[in-house]
Amino acid sequence: MGDGGSDTGEDPMLDSLICVAGSSIKKSGFIASHSTDERERRVIFVNAGGEELRRQGHSEIEVEADRFFQGGDVLRTDEEVADGGDLPSIYQSARYGNFCYEFRDLPPGDYSVDLHFAEIVYTNGPRGMRVFNVFIQDEKAVSELDVYSIVGANRALQVMNIPVSAGKDGVVSVNFQGVVGSPTVSGICIKQGAPELQLVSSGRDGKSLLCDNCFAPVKLTAAENKAARMSFTAKYEREIRELKAQCQMKQDECYEAWMSLTAANQELEKVRAELDVKFFQNFTLGQAMEKETEKMAKISSKYEHDRRLWVAAIDELERKMKAIKSEHSQLSFEAHQCANSIPGLNQMVTAVQSLGNIRVFCRCRPLNMEEASSRPQTVVEFTDAKDGDLGVLMNGSNKKIYKFDRVYTPKDDQCDVFEDASPVATSVLDGYNVCIFAYGQTGTGKTFTMEGTEQNRGVNYRTLELLFKIAEDRKKTISYDISVSVLEVYNEQVRDLLASSPPAKRLEIKQVSEGVNHVPGVVDMKVENVDEVWNILQTGSNARAVGSNNVNGHSSRSHCMICTVVRAKNLVTGECTRSKLWLVDLAGSERLAKTDVQGERLKEAQSINKSLSALGDVISALATKSSHIPYRNSKLTHLLQDSLGGDSKTLMFVQISPSEHDLGETVSSLNFATRVRGVELGPAKKQSDTTEIQKLKLMLPFCLCQLKCKDDTIRKLEENVQALEGKTKSKEQFSKSQQDKIIDLENQVELKAELCGHLEKRLSQVYEKMQRKEEACYSFQQKVKELEDRLQEQEQASSINSKAKTRELEDAVKEKSQQFQRHTEMLQKQIKMLEEELEAKQGREYMYISEPTDTFQARKVEAKPLKIEADPFSLRSLNSTSSGTLLNRGEQSILLKGTDSLRALRHKRDLQSKGPENNLFLVTPTAHKKPISAESEPSKARHLDPSRAFARISRGGKPVGSGSSAFPNRVKESDSSRVKIWLR
Ligand code: ADP
Ligand code: MG
Repeated sequence: MGDGGSDTGEDPMLDSLICVAGSSIKKSGFIASHSTDERERRVIFVNAGGEELRRQGHSEIEVEADRFFQGGDVLRTDEEVADGGDLPSIYQSARYGNFCYEFRDLPPGDYSVDLHFAEIVYTNGPRGMRVFNVFIQDEKAVSELDVYSIVGANRALQVMNIPVSAGKDGVVSVNFQGVVGSPTVSGICIKQGAPELQLVSSGRDGKSLLCDNCFAPVKLTAAENKAARMSFTAKYEREIRELKAQCQMKQDECYEAWMSLTAANQELEKVRAELDVKFFQNFTLGQAMEKETEKMAKISSKYEHDRRLWVAAIDELERKMKAIKSEHSQLSFEAHQCANSIPGLNQMVTAVQSLGNIRVFCRCRPLNMEEASSRPQTVVEFTDAKDGDLGVLMNGSNKKIYKFDRVYTPKDDQCDVFEDASPVATSVLDGYNVCIFAYGQTGTGKTFTMEGTEQNRGVNYRTLELLFKIAEDRKKTISYDISVSVLEVYNEQVRDLLASSPPAKRLEIKQVSEGVNHVPGVVDMKVENVDEVWNILQTGSNARAVGSNNVNGHSSRSHCMICTVVRAKNLVTGECTRSKLWLVDLAGSERLAKTDVQGERLKEAQSINKSLSALGDVISALATKSSHIPYRNSKLTHLLQDSLGGDSKTLMFVQISPSEHDLGETVSSLNFATRVRGVELGPAKKQSDTTEIQKLKLMLPFCLCQLKCKDDTIRKLEENVQALEGKTKSKEQFSKSQQDKIIDLENQVELKAELCGHLEKRLSQVYEKMQRKEEACYSFQQKVKELEDRLQEQEQASSINSKAKTRELEDAVKEKSQQFQRHTEMLQKQIKMLEEELEAKQGREYMYISEPTDTFQARKVEAKPLKIEADPFSLRSLNSTSSGTLLNRGEQSILLKGTDSLRALRHKRDLQSKGPENNLFLVTPTAHKKPISAESEPSKARHLDPSRAFARISRGGKPVGSGSSAFPNRVKESDSSRVKIWLR
């Protein structure tokens, strides 16, 4: 077997270092085989930490320089390494530290690996300074190798024939992992083929093994075979137990992990439940808060809305109150005024009534340019004009005084005139019929007084202007409808000055009701403002038939009559009135004798005279209170019928010239006017004035009632305001409390949010923890599964192997027992023979007492070959069975000697068969004890605490411990000091 032998048989403890079946430990260096097959099998041989080596000669060896390694450092020694074999220099270098080897590009298949070691650093020990594991293809191949402990310093050691398979990737990795200190390796040799131990039949000598290096059959006795197999079986069983323990340990760890995971899960569940509760609380709180906020918002908006409404209402009420108060004060003031003015009014009424309803104002025009230049004598005197007295100088010194309602000097302007005329004019708005006309000689200023000029407007325009103003002022109580028509009476014919085209038939005056005349077909223009009035007046003025004469080129020979109809509706009383205002610019009143006209002009003059005479007649009739008033004598009086007399008011401007030349006409006009002024109309004229006062009087209780109502309203409003203020205050308080509530809720929400954040953080932590636990658990499960798989595989493999082996062994035992039976029978026969002989000799002894020693010696010699032939098993059987018999027979000395001789024999055989290959035989002394330990072990293992067992495994000195416990006898037999070191 050469160098292929293992030293494990010598030191059974080395078995525990080897984790892979088929591998062995050899306490010497590399020895090259002579066989070429062996050379060919070497695929790679690297000198770890050293150079390339080559030895030529009989057995050629090639060792490559250090490569294929990853990591680590190089160690070298100059000291010689003992038992270095053929390549001692390999062991002088080493790779040490944290490293591994990876051999690539190997063809897939089975290989075996030899590892070469030598302790070249810790040369003085102590043991256990460097303990490491070797993994091949991640499988532990060598467990806790301490080179110094096995061979000492500077001595070679080999771990041989570690089987390994290269996969498709062609990689074989050898990994070194330190248990104590750093691992080292001096060389690695990879050989092709698996190092299998092949059992071959060897005939009657029992079975033998093939050397894993040279494949030479190794002859083994049955006992050796059995021992070898038992050793393997025990190794596997040990591994299985270790794996089981590891598995149990992992299961325990898994269980612990699972328990902690369960606990964590429970905690997590609890936290989740708590969180759910919190979430729910938060959610409900949030919902409640949302509802509250919504409610609050609604209340706020409602409050705001109400507040605005109330504020507006209060403002409105205050405003109304103010208005009412001011109105009230105004009314009281007015009422007081009214009450105060009542006596004055009464006096005025009396005065007016005494005056009559026709007033005559005399107006004298200034001298015109012509008159002024000829220095004429003025025949009028205005000394007492203020009192309505006008002096006219008749024939130089004779002065006649005329009395009128008002006398205007040439200096008096249009405003002065209108100021006095306006009350009469505006009484049309109070429902009176009014007639204002200008009478006088042509050129005395009738048109000037009535129409005026654009810059200096007369009574017509001013009257209408004032009417609109008053109507505007009274619009709250009375609504007015004002329409205007402009007529001309020329040659006793009525003409419509506003008509755009001449009428188809002559305009006639019709009486529509008692005292009311109307001219059908006359344009009645409704006017809204004074501008429209002006346009209408202009239209009428332009359309007026104008003639010329030698007295005044611009004088008109027709009567221009503006009729303003006022329809009034009292909005308080509902009373409606319709009244007329006639503004008449009469034609010149000069006498015919003075005019120098013929034909058409004469006719005009006659018509004018006629109408003016008719006017005089009417006025006279009214003055004399005649039963018949000749209104119809002329168109003029006919038209003015409803405005002359009765309840109407009349104002006459008598226009005079200051010139001496016009004295006659002036006196004539003044006389006419005086006659008119003397007319006293009926009580109707009084009625018009008292109506106003009565109206005021009537209005007074109404106003007082209104005042009272207003007072009540004000009181109610004040009460309302007070109630509103109270409500507002309560609303404000409510809003304040709601706002406080909102702030509280907001704070609560903030707190809850913080709590949520906290819980979320905690949850995430627990999640992480759980995840970690799950991962750990998962990895444990994976490991357990792997281990279980491996265990199963190994169990399967080992059970198959051990079954087969057991069967074989049983067969062998059977055979042996048969042999033993035969031997026993033979021996019994021999014993019988010997007994017979003995009996025969005993008979003779009596005769030869001095002879026994030689005979016994001779017998002992005879028995020797027999015992040599018997195998140890049969010898033991013999010892245990036959020796008892022999002892019983008092053969103690002989048997003791026999036992001694057996030992001697065994020793001798040991010496004879001593060689490297006999390792299996060397196992024998212990092998027979193994079954005992193997039988007792499982029961022990069963009662062993798995966790403790695993704990021992995982600790440094454990494998030795487990090894020693697995082989108690062996520990006793081996060096006790070594056991102690290994335990460290
Ligand atoms: P009648 O209409 O009576 O024929 P007018 O009105 O045409 O008279 O007046 C004749 C002239 O006398 C006009 O030029 C007018 O401007 C002027 N006149 C008349 N009265 C006055 C007066 N009070 N102040 C100034 N001028 C006057
Ligand atoms: Mg005129």
